Amino acid sequence: AGLAQPAIRGLKAYDPGHDLVALRRGFAPDVLVELGSNENPHGPSPRVREALLAVAGELHRYPDPRGGDLKRALAAKHGVAEPQLLLGNGSHELLMQFGQAFAGPDAGIVMSQFGFAVYAIAAMAAGAPLVQAPCLPRDHPMPRGHDLDAIAAAIGPDTRLVYVANPNNPTGTWFGAEAFAAFLARVPREVLVVVDEAYAEFVDAPEYASALPLVAAHPNLIVTRTFSKAYALAGLRAGFAVAHPGLVAVMERLRESFNLNMAALACAEAALGDEAHLHDGIRFNRERREALADALRHRGVFVFPSQTNFLLVEFGEATDAIEARLRAAGVVLRPMGGYGLGDCLRITVGDDDENARLLQALDGARA
Ligand code: PMP
Repeated sequence: AGLAQPAIRGLKAYDPGHDLVALRRGFAPDVLVELGSNENPHGPSPRVREALLAVAGELHRYPDPRGGDLKRALAAKHGVAEPQLLLGNGSHELLMQFGQAFAGPDAGIVMSQFGFAVYAIAAMAAGAPLVQAPCLPRDHPMPRGHDLDAIAAAIGPDTRLVYVANPNNPTGTWFGAEAFAAFLARVPREVLVVVDEAYAEFVDAPEYASALPLVAAHPNLIVTRTFSKAYALAGLRAGFAVAHPGLVAVMERLRESFNLNMAALACAEAALGDEAHLHDGIRFNRERREALADALRHRGVFVFPSQTNFLLVEFGEATDAIEARLRAAGVVLRPMGGYGLGDCLRITVGDDDENARLLQALDGARA
C-alpha cells in the first residue's frame, strides 16, 4: 500500500454490505430475499433477452467503442445532441471519472452529508479536499435530505465540483425544480454541478423535474442516469451523462475505449425502446413502495419519504440485532452504519412475495 499514491492510500475498497456469494451458498434461491442493493424485481424488458441472444454470435468482435447506436437512441429519447452524451460502465464509473478529470488537491468537491457514498470516494481518489454540507434536519419534511442552501454556502473559491443526487440514495429524499433552479443560479460558472439522477424515472412528485432540460443553457451542469434501476439492467453495467460537448470531450480522453461491452450496449438500446415495459415497472414499484411503507409505519417505525425503489427505515437501538436476525432468516437488507445512519436499514422494494416475507421475518426478528 505504501507504493500507492498518497490519495489512494487512505481509500477503502467498496463495501457491498454483505458477502452475497456466501449468503447465496447458504440459502436455497427460493428462500433468500435480497433487498439490499436497490435492484428492480420487475426485471428488464423481454426485448433485452432477444438483444442478448443476437450479440451471442458476435462476441469475438470488439464492441463499438463510440456506442453510436445507443447514443443515437438516447439522443432521440431525451432530446439532446449526441456530442452531449457520455456512456459509462454504470453511472458509477462516470461519477468517479468526473473527480479524476476535474478535481484534485487544488480543486475541491462539495457534497451533502448523507449524499451517495461514491462522491466521497471520488474526492479521495482524486486527492481533492471534500466539504460535506450539513443535510436537512431529521424533523424536516425531507429528513436528512439535501439542503441546497447549505450546499451553495459550502462552495468556496477552491471548489471545482459539486455532487447532488436527486432523488438521493440512501435517504430516498428529493428536491424540487424551483429550488434547484435557484441553487444553480447561485453556483459560479466555473464550478461543475453533477446531478445524479439514478432514480429519476421512479419520481412522480409534482414539484420534481429532471435537470436534463437545463443542460443546454448551463455549460457547468452534468446530469447522470443509469440503466441499473428503472430499466432493471444492473448486471450489465450501463449508465450515461448529459453535459456540454466540451465537458464530454474532456471525459472522452479518460474513458476506456471499450467501457461498455457489446451486451450492455445492445441491451440498453433494446430496453430504451420499450417504453411500455418501463412504465409498467415504475407503476409496479410505486404501488409496492407505498404498500410496504404503510406496512412498516403500521409497525411503529419511522420510514423516510421516498420517490425511489427503496425505503430508508429507522429501527432505533435494536437495528443491528434486527438486521442480524433477518440475515440469519435469509432476508438481506443494507446496514447503514457506514453512512453514519447506524439506526437505519435501507430496504429495496421487492415483489409481493419478497415484501411479504420481509415483513413476516421482521415481525419474527422484533418479537
Ligand atoms: N447513483 C446513485 C444515487 C446510486 O444509488 C447508484 C447505485 N446504487 C449509482 C449512482 C450507481 O449506479 P450504476 O453504477 O449501477 O449506474
